[in-house]
Amino acid sequence: RKPRVAIIFGGRSSEHAVSCSTAGSVLRALDRERYDVIPIGITMEGRWVLEKDEPERLAIQTGRLPEVDEKGTTVVLANDHGGELVSLDPGSVPGTLGEVDVVFPLLHGPFGEDGTLQGLLEMADVRYVGAGVLASAVAMDKHFAKLVFQAQGFPVVPYTLIKPAQWEADPAACAESVASLGFPVFVKPARGGSSIGITKVTDPADLAAAVEKAQEFDPKVLVEAAVEGARELECGVIEGLEGGRAQASVVAEIRYDSEYDFYDFEAKYLDDETHVDLQLPAALDEQLTARVREFAVTAFEALGVEGLARVDFFLSADGTLLLNEINTMPGFTPYSMFPRMWAASGLDYAALCDHLIQLALRRPTGLR
Ligand code: ADP
Ligand code: MG
Ligand code: MG
Repeated sequence: RKPRVAIIFGGRSSEHAVSCSTAGSVLRALDRERYDVIPIGITMEGRWVLEKDEPERLAIQTGRLPEVDEKGTTVVLANDHGGELVSLDPGSVPGTLGEVDVVFPLLHGPFGEDGTLQGLLEMADVRYVGAGVLASAVAMDKHFAKLVFQAQGFPVVPYTLIKPAQWEADPAACAESVASLGFPVFVKPARGGSSIGITKVTDPADLAAAVEKAQEFDPKVLVEAAVEGARELECGVIEGLEGGRAQASVVAEIRYDSEYDFYDFEAKYLDDETHVDLQLPAALDEQLTARVREFAVTAFEALGVEGLARVDFFLSADGTLLLNEINTMPGFTPYSMFPRMWAASGLDYAALCDHLIQLALRRPTGLR
């Protein structure tokens, strides 16, 4: 029989809508001659439901962000030896999905991209696309990611951490440690994405509001020195079906005009590319391009990522390549950087989805 692929999307994070939009694109792209596809949505409250196979409904349209349909049937996920992943909704009568060969977790942010779903799937012995528990968790947490990057000797942007207890007890001490970075700074939820909850702070008087805004998304807040005038470079990495070293895509550069202060949510998803310019490939000399691609693969391997990742850099004015972050489930609509970088590297959207599913199907379950 055909492999049964469960597409899981939506979820409890602030990136719910982005995830829905990605799922719509993947549903449209998967070859139904090759795969049986089961769309599973996670509502914003965390209920798992069977969704209709309706990609159009999930697209981001002007004035409307897509959402998982609350009225779907609650599901139970089973592995191939009778184990069941029970949905966390004891109040309702669950529908059953039967056996699932592979899960494609198209979730961004906490409770999906951060190792939690990956842990559930490991426990249930179900194969899935992408990074495992540890790499997902480390990459999601901008603080722990930095600790690992620094331990590997990768240059990162100077930062300070603000935990909720510290902020509550002594905001002045927190402000002082931020000031030592020098303004402007970027204030970020430690575990987030899509630039949600991030503020660039130029005036120290605006720090408190920015910290409180970031805290709406994560009690743990990271403050980073702004890399002034830095170029933003990204590189896609995927594993090959035959094993060996992971592969890097062409390098892309993101440029935006003064309409945007930084690459924020609007610039990422709502700009029709009038104020944002995605250069594919980036205009870099051969040597620098090679350095970025090599660095991306090295970082991917250092963190023990599996499947795919988008590795993002800042190129500072003095030519230093700083590792900003590794996204283990990067934006994945056909308009997102990761698929576009791969399309520019010769792997189109449908082929990329197929490649990732094939990788996951070949991967053993259990410790790797
Ligand atoms: P996310 O995971 O939400 O994408 P990032 O850390 O990548 O979070 O920050 C989002 C964007 O904010 C970056 O793409 C960049 O435009 C800007 N930014 C973040 N940190 C810095 C920094 N230290 N210096 C300059 N720009 C930054
Ligand atoms: Mg980013
Ligand atoms: Mg990110």
